[in-house]
Amino acid sequence: MTKDKYDVIVIGSGIGGLCAAALLGRYGKRVIVCESHTIAGGAAHNFRRRGFEFDSGPSFYCGLTDIQSLNPLKQVLDVIGESVAAVRYDPLGHYHFPEGTLAVYSDGDRYRQEVAKITPVGARELEQFERRLLPLYDAMKGIPALALRADWQLLPVLLGRYLPSLLKMLPNLPLIQASVGNVMDATVKDPWIRRLIDLECFLLSGLKAHGTIAPEVAFMLGERSRAGVEYPVGGSGEIVNALVRGL
Ligand SMILES: Cc1cc2nc3c(=O)[nH]c(=O)nc-3n(C[C@H](O)[C@H](O)[C@H](O)COP(=O)(O)OP(=O)(O)OC[C@H]3O[C@@H](n4cnc5c(N)ncnc54)[C@H](O)[C@@H]3O)c2cc1C
Repeated sequence: MTKDKYDVIVIGSGIGGLCAAALLGRYGKRVIVCESHTIAGGAAHNFRRRGFEFDSGPSFYCGLTDIQSLNPLKQVLDVIGESVAAVRYDPLGHYHFPEGTLAVYSDGDRYRQEVAKITPVGARELEQFERRLLPLYDAMKGIPALALRADWQLLPVLLGRYLPSLLKMLPNLPLIQASVGNVMDATVKDPWIRRLIDLECFLLSGLKAHGTIAPEVAFMLGERSRAGVEYPVGGSGEIVNALVRGL
């Protein structure tokens, strides 16, 4: 009986399911992953046509090769003894607007210099917006995602090991549940910059600023500037292969 063979059944082999299953396996649980598609990876699977490899979903990654990475996926790969080769690239792309084209550099200052070519006032407002969010990133980066657990033992872990970061978090508490749209309303009037922020939020979460939580954008801005953007050699499927191997 399946019940006697496995401790945990994970439904779905997306990156989320594979990470959960790999960690459970690492901690000694007997795990099976059930997938309704013919291949693993969910939104992040690769497919091949006429000799070309295509990604079905994600293509922007941060911190896949960084030893101090804050990327939870990299932390899972480390824990299960796996790694992927990745290539860093900058700018990560170009935005084409009717008002002009701008290169999206990882470094925040360089990116704002590009923005200033279209709206110098807006670039200053964008800086205010980032300044409001980056202290939250600074506090979050001291607490690895793998340390966050869903039971009461979260408290002793946080208090015992991450007290300085927790204290840094206190002034940022109102931002944790807030929409980044509120931060935008408080710091940015320029309609073009507001559209730019909406665009970046959409690329990140599929929703505009008012539907996107502030920590998500804070983390994206901070990590993009600190670690840069990378692409796994062989495509996103290589991450899936590494997780499946580790599992
Ligand atoms: C077009 C696109 C671009 C993206 N770009 C980026 C990016 O650049 N950077 C980034 O970090 N993120 C990006 N993302 C987001 C990222 O791909 C997803 O957040 C992540 O892959 C989701 O993983 P998941 O495991 O949560 O879910 P999914 O990948 O959706 O996995 C769910 C899995 O469960 C399976 N399943 C569902 N129901 C059942 C069932 N009843 N029985 C068996 N199996 C089942 C599905 O077939 C699927 O394989 C992008 C997403 C898309 C779609």
